[in-house]
Amino acid sequence: MKKVVIVGGVAGGASTAARIRRLDEQAQIVMFERGPHVSFSNCSLPFYLSGVVPNSKRLLMMTPDSFEQKHNIDARVNSEVIAINRDEQYVHVKNTVTGDVTTERYDTLVLSPGASPIVPNIPGNNLPHVFTVRNVVDIEKLHNAIVENDAANIAVIGGGFIGVEVAENLRLAGRNVSLVQSASHILTSFDDDMAQLLHKEMLDEGVNLIVGDGLAEIHTSSVVLRSGKEVAADIVVLAIGVHPETKLAAEAGLTIGETGAIAVNENYQTSDSNIYAVGDAIEVYHRLMGKKVRLALAGPAQRQARAAADHMYGIPVTNKGVIGSSSIQVFNYAAASTGLNERTAKQLGLAVEAVYVIAPDKVGLMPSSNPLHFKLIYEVPTGRIIGAQAIGKGNADKRIDVIATLITMNGTVDDLKELELSYSPMFSTAKDVVNIAALVANNLMAGRFQQVRVSDVRRLVEEGAYIVDVREPNEFANGALKGAVNIPLSQLRERMNEIPTDVPVYVHCRSAQRSYNAVMALNNSGYTNVFNVSGSFLGICLY
Ligand code: FAD
Repeated sequence: MKKVVIVGGVAGGASTAARIRRLDEQAQIVMFERGPHVSFSNCSLPFYLSGVVPNSKRLLMMTPDSFEQKHNIDARVNSEVIAINRDEQYVHVKNTVTGDVTTERYDTLVLSPGASPIVPNIPGNNLPHVFTVRNVVDIEKLHNAIVENDAANIAVIGGGFIGVEVAENLRLAGRNVSLVQSASHILTSFDDDMAQLLHKEMLDEGVNLIVGDGLAEIHTSSVVLRSGKEVAADIVVLAIGVHPETKLAAEAGLTIGETGAIAVNENYQTSDSNIYAVGDAIEVYHRLMGKKVRLALAGPAQRQARAAADHMYGIPVTNKGVIGSSSIQVFNYAAASTGLNERTAKQLGLAVEAVYVIAPDKVGLMPSSNPLHFKLIYEVPTGRIIGAQAIGKGNADKRIDVIATLITMNGTVDDLKELELSYSPMFSTAKDVVNIAALVANNLMAGRFQQVRVSDVRRLVEEGAYIVDVREPNEFANGALKGAVNIPLSQLRERMNEIPTDVPVYVHCRSAQRSYNAVMALNNSGYTNVFNVSGSFLGICLY
């Protein structure tokens, strides 16, 4: 009978245990968890702060008893594995309540210890009103501190996924929330142009969003930022990133990789073939970057868990690496991304181009139709799709999942153009926004028209460039770019002679669709230097 010992009883650990049991009814499976809970929904933790999850007990999906009863898995909580004896194949386990240390033999060991929140080495970092969010105990402590002290002002430090979700849920709970992000925009899996929409939403919903500034000091009722700015804070939540838990592996002499996480092979075996490792603690191969990265996401952790268990039982594992797909709700918006963003692709030296389209997510007649902001990043001249970002009030995640599938299949802009997707007015448009992005990219690659980015518009205005706004006069009257000439698309053909032929002409409308038609009309009338403003007025307003 094979004996498998697992370190960590949540996403990766519990998934490995469950898969092993499905493959082997006889195996003895012992799962050690340092904390008091196994198998909880880490990803749902922030939603307890707003009451979306009404009771913290609802965050627990399994208990040691249910593991025992349903799966014959011996799950032991309050049990920290403190050392591994690789030569004799046993672990030392400390009971975190009594302090007793025992040993447990293994044939195969699986490490899924996760990643711990980074606490910066700054004055005040250990004050009692400073919190991090990793598990059910953390979120209960934070929730209780806020409620018991009726904390009015909360500073959330870090604009990544956890920081944004915590800030949003605390705002929904009626608190005054400041969100401090040291980078120039929140959620850095998005490009700067896309993130502006999320900034606006945060500000509209009353979050005091501060970007481009970091935390310097924590005081009892405020935080001081690097700029010297002081922000009121009865409670401080640190969400500036996580660090893989490698101490146990490193002390056992297992190889730690170039990223600082546990090194594994394509079957998730560490440098000791009897020891597997999965989840946030390992480094993984990024198939688009062509190098090892750390990726702290639940989906990959669960896939790795299954693959590790399969490999233990001789089931072939196909490991093509990760691409990094994620989604998040930001108040009324859904935001999702996959693959590389434009910034990262360019930093890696890849030859890429991007299109930014804003199209209805459903047929415009439908009551819940809303604009979907969609950015597609592809390699030139191959057209290979390498990333996408979508933000809208509707199903942004569905669009990104389509692109994630294509990236995984090495799909191109042409594949996306021809992709036959389901359609009904309540769900999408006959030509979905993802198809439209591919059509635009296809036209650009074929040289049928030229574009400039929404991020170039400020410079163009300052330079006094010739900008044509092809929206209707009433739209123009409600707000327009300084110096722009209003020639509505409906009048373009009669008034084309007003547009000069000897200077570059930049055309925009509301969402870049009418302006695209205008650009093509101009191109087909002999103009050679005409550019569509990608992102158009909706994008310009955000930038
Ligand atoms: P974990 O699930 O963290 O489990 C590791 C466990 O190991 C811990 O409970 C720890 O106590 C235990 N442990 C560590 N060392 C030892 C030891 N020596 N002995 C015994 N036990 C030990 N991902 C998404 O994809 N989408 C999301 O929306 C999302 N939201 C998130 C929100 C929050 C607030 C958090 C914290 C994470 C979120 N994640 C999300 C990330 C996701 O939860 C992780 O990627 C995933 O849980 C990683 O699984 P893991 O098994 O590696 O680590």
